[in-house]
Amino acid sequence: MGLENKVALVTGGGRGIGRAIALAFAKKGADIVINEIDMPAAEKVVAEVKALGCRSIGVKADVSIKKEIEGMVETAIKEFGKIDILVNNAGISIVGPSEELEESRWNKGIGIDLNGVFFCSQVVGREMINRKRGNIINIASIAGIGALPIRATYCTAKGGVIMLTKSLACDWARYNIRVNAIAPGYIKTEMVEDLIKKGQYDEEALARRAPAGRMGLPEDVANAAVFLASDESDYIAGHTLVVDGAWSVYSYLQSWLDEGRK
Ligand code: NDP
Repeated sequence: MGLENKVALVTGGGRGIGRAIALAFAKKGADIVINEIDMPAAEKVVAEVKALGCRSIGVKADVSIKKEIEGMVETAIKEFGKIDILVNNAGISIVGPSEELEESRWNKGIGIDLNGVFFCSQVVGREMINRKRGNIINIASIAGIGALPIRATYCTAKGGVIMLTKSLACDWARYNIRVNAIAPGYIKTEMVEDLIKKGQYDEEALARRAPAGRMGLPEDVANAAVFLASDESDYIAGHTLVVDGAWSVYSYLQSWLDEGRK
């Protein structure tokens, strides 16, 4: 599953799942563009990619602003001449009761988590259409498949990403562009580890909730991304690959188990 001679752009690639995907792609030989808002974080990953023997640059851009996306893509193409793989990973989680949610927070969540995915895909997609070749991987969430309380913005955006994945796959298959998504469950990123340390998440309860008996790791998502980026998944398009240790398929029965049923 080599990615030699491929160029991948990973949005929000300075930490967490994005960083793991960038490093997994580099281990397979790809050159990497790391997009971030926080440039020191991006530069650290750029150095890690270079240490693996691949080329890499960091590009600052807010994915919710189309002009900045256009600048980012222009910089990437100037440096590497093409983008073979786009990973729409940047995302934020807006949490709070729907009845109190301010317009600005709704717009921010949808702006990054859904509009950002569409406009990054559109701008990079135009380049890919010209080259009649490309691969787009959207990082959705199991929150886009089943609803979670007090996360209406996030669930709506991620559900939208799953449908957008299907729509773009239909639109662009004729240009030899594949579009797929990954829907992770709870993944132990730095952010989640911070919340565990602050006592806001109970690690054991999260691990127990997944039938696999553990939380996901960024590498679990990265391994799925490598498969979708590779030629081995050549006929897979418009698909959402769930990476959650069976959490989401089990959830419908959880209330029975909570009641002590066998
Ligand atoms: P992190 O918060 O650790 O990483 C997200 C990255 O995106 C950060 O580096 C962040 O930068 C960057 N980012 C945020 N907003 C923007 C923006 N407007 N433009 C460019 N970059 C931006 O999150 P994770 O690694 O946990 O999540 C990555 C993706 O996976 C997200 O889409 C998330 O929704 C999804 N996901 C995560 C799960 C989990 O359990 N961790 C589960 C399911 C899905 P900065 O740090 O500067 O804000």
